[in-house]
Amino acid sequence: MEQEVKTVVRKSIPLDKIFALPSKMVNIRYANKILVVSPETANWIVLQNEEQLSFLNLLHNNQLGEALQHFSGSHQNAQAVVTQIIARKFENKKVHFKHETGTMQFYLTNGCNMRCPHCYMFAGIKKNNELSTDEVYSVLDKFYNSGGKVIVFSGGEIALRKDLLQIIGHSYNLGIKNEILTNGTLWTEETISKIAPMLSRVQISIDGYSEETNSKVRGKGNFSKALQTVESFLKYHVYTEISVTPYLDKNLEVDYPKYVEFAKNLYQNYGDINFLVKFTFDILEGRNIVVTNEQKKNIKLL
Ligand code: SF4
Repeated sequence: MEQEVKTVVRKSIPLDKIFALPSKMVNIRYANKILVVSPETANWIVLQNEEQLSFLNLLHNNQLGEALQHFSGSHQNAQAVVTQIIARKFENKKVHFKHETGTMQFYLTNGCNMRCPHCYMFAGIKKNNELSTDEVYSVLDKFYNSGGKVIVFSGGEIALRKDLLQIIGHSYNLGIKNEILTNGTLWTEETISKIAPMLSRVQISIDGYSEETNSKVRGKGNFSKALQTVESFLKYHVYTEISVTPYLDKNLEVDYPKYVEFAKNLYQNYGDINFLVKFTFDILEGRNIVVTNEQKKNIKLL
């Protein structure tokens, strides 16, 4: 594979580059082109076709080389996107620490025990260059010293980090509020009892209303494991959210009352004070997912 991508202005971009793209981008289609606007930086780029848009989406949180590996379109379209980003200075250089809110999203690992088709991180295999425990501590210290207040720890699956308790402990001792996102399938009650006092929120992803529907996205046997984890975090008094992303359910138009029923039953079991079920209808392209405009429209109508 080529080791770099040359833009049409003859600038070489190394393949391990991760573009700091704006967190929110709005796509406006006009005259067969796509205007991608970043409201937070008041900047925009113009893409020529859907293939270029799908490459731009692949550049989110992925190295340039990884995005190219997953891209089935033409090299010219990939090159055109990179050229636009560079030429229009589209990167958001402020992404590391959000001083405005004091909140940081910290991806602790790319390793994951699942291979969800909608995973926009393409998580699965741990990367070679992931931060060591001491390097994580150093980021936490710098974040705290720069005014940081809240960290949302995410992955991949954070429970795969053997040093997770130490990391959360370090952050907690600094006075940072810790929140975690997890698939909820790798936890023991012992770990939960230890980590619980240091957490202010846990979010657990479940993508179906039953073992059958969830297993189509998250694999067999994981529905009850995730629900067991929800129960354990609640037992140790951690504010717990279940995040449900049902758009992969092919029967959603017919089945959505079952999701509502699922949520109602959960509220009956766990109450609504320390507990929330939220449905996510944001559609992101991921590992095996390309979302058509028609699908996006249909989801909005539900
Ligand atoms: S559990 Fe989360 S991180 Fe892992 S593959 Fe699924 S969506 Fe990606």
